[in-house]
Amino acid sequence: MVQEKIEKVLIVGGGTSGWMTAAALAHFLKNKGCAITLVESEAIGTVGVGEATLPHLRFFNQTLGINEAEFMAATNATYKMGIEFSNWGQLGDAYIHPFGEYGKEINSVAFHQYWLRQNYRGRSKSIDKYSLPVVAAAQQRFMFPINDERSIFSTYSYAFHIDAGLYASYLRRYSENLGVTRIEGKVVAVMQGDSGEIQSVQLENGEKIDGDLFIDCSGFRGLLIEQALKTGYENWSHWLPCNKAVAAPSELNGPLLPYTKAIAQKAGWRWRIPLQQRTGNGHVYCSDFMNDQDACDILVSSIEGKLIADPKVLQFTAGKRKKAWNKNCVAIGLSGGFLEPLESTSIYLIQIAIMKLMELFPDKSIDSALVNEFNRLMDIEYLRIRDFLILHYYATKRNDTAFWDYCRNMPIPHELEHKMALFRERGYVVEYQGGLFLEPSWIAVYLGQGVLPNKFDPRVNWISDQQLDKTMFEIEALVERAAMQMPMHDQFLVQHRASLERPKSTMSLYGGRQ
Ligand SMILES: Cc1cc2nc3c(=O)[nH]c(=O)nc-3n(C[C@H](O)[C@H](O)[C@H](O)COP(=O)(O)OP(=O)(O)OC[C@H]3O[C@@H](n4cnc5c(N)ncnc54)[C@H](O)[C@@H]3O)c2cc1C
Repeated sequence: MVQEKIEKVLIVGGGTSGWMTAAALAHFLKNKGCAITLVESEAIGTVGVGEATLPHLRFFNQTLGINEAEFMAATNATYKMGIEFSNWGQLGDAYIHPFGEYGKEINSVAFHQYWLRQNYRGRSKSIDKYSLPVVAAAQQRFMFPINDERSIFSTYSYAFHIDAGLYASYLRRYSENLGVTRIEGKVVAVMQGDSGEIQSVQLENGEKIDGDLFIDCSGFRGLLIEQALKTGYENWSHWLPCNKAVAAPSELNGPLLPYTKAIAQKAGWRWRIPLQQRTGNGHVYCSDFMNDQDACDILVSSIEGKLIADPKVLQFTAGKRKKAWNKNCVAIGLSGGFLEPLESTSIYLIQIAIMKLMELFPDKSIDSALVNEFNRLMDIEYLRIRDFLILHYYATKRNDTAFWDYCRNMPIPHELEHKMALFRERGYVVEYQGGLFLEPSWIAVYLGQGVLPNKFDPRVNWISDQQLDKTMFEIEALVERAAMQMPMHDQFLVQHRASLERPKSTMSLYGGRQ
């Protein structure tokens, strides 16, 4: 059978998604006879936010052969060990969702079960005390994890806070060096064939650019996937009601924290993201409960350093495109869907879409089995994140505003209901294949927001009270000692920026530590 290979890929859009896609395609398809072109419009610009990442980005960079220290310097990045959530369970609460573990399994039973037993015995200390990434982050310490499973320094992972504009510029240089053609211009028309497939796009100057496969990275507008192909959107705003954000960078003020801050507000939450040369600030809110001016005032009055740009308001709808891949068009980035940045998942979704596209890369016939599989896998990714985000809003005791009353009482997806019921029964965390968020992440949010099970796993009674007290004491002391051995994040950054070498991570994309 003759298989006609894809010879021309056209990417529309040059934001984070466009340049990540261009870089990865250029890397994987190098010398394979496939021309990659990217068209973008400086006049339209990019969404201009997206600074907190997940550890998976390290794997993406590594796959592309990007040196981590060079990447850090080029994007003004800092290290990130997790996210601190304040005022979510109730006003005055705070917990860190770490990229890492709590305690260690005993007799093959998860550590949090032993913690629950202690809690019921009235001997509880915050579970945070048993997690090295939480304790280290709270003390503003950071060092690279090590790969020896016997060491406590292997119990965490890390990500970055980056200047996403600089990352896109970096990847543009990378892509152009590998032969990607960039065209400056505004797409004004999309030409389609008899069966609706995209044949070419037309620019404002009349130029037509054709392709075999089109990647829509045009942002919220979904120029190809929606405006041309009318794919449809699954709206999840009844579960994730925040639909606006105001963002404003400020001058640095205070130490560089190795974690993102997510501080719940009256009708949403604020973020604070420390970069090497500035701080990213934003306020995500629901316009049914708060107007733009109030949202902006809350943000500006909370910023400690001097503002370096005017606040910018953005609008969005939580949800995803009904099909991320439709005919010969794949939507990557904001054109494919949007889940608010509470757990820093959007760049991850870009990365995962690129990796799945590479695995399922089609020939010119664009086999529908490949398309369906891509859409199935991307749906799973979205659903996992969706439910985890909803948990943050739903598992609240806050009753101080109408917004939180709505969140506390809203119906939730049955998949999440099922997960919460099992946790409430005896601390059981439902395992699943594919998609983000392993057991420690669920534990962090459940316990951090005061969702306490009625019982615990009976197997924890296999050890005596004295043994349990001793083990808990030893783990806490080990965590505390290990944290004290780690340098301060600020110092580590200064030291490490000097070196361009960094040991390779053994993290896998689909499993292992997040
Ligand atoms: C408030 C907010 C906070 C966020 N925070 C985070 C975060 O902390 N972490 C995270 O991972 N993600 C975050 N995100 C998501 C992140 O910003 C995006 O996933 C990322 O920037 C990718 O955007 P994009 O490239 O898909 O779209 P855009 O940045 O909008 O880029 C679209 C591109 O398409 C081009 N284009 C559009 N129309 C045309 C046309 N007609 N002709 C030619 N070119 C065109 C534009 O010029 C631009 O180059 C956040 C998003 C929002 C809204």
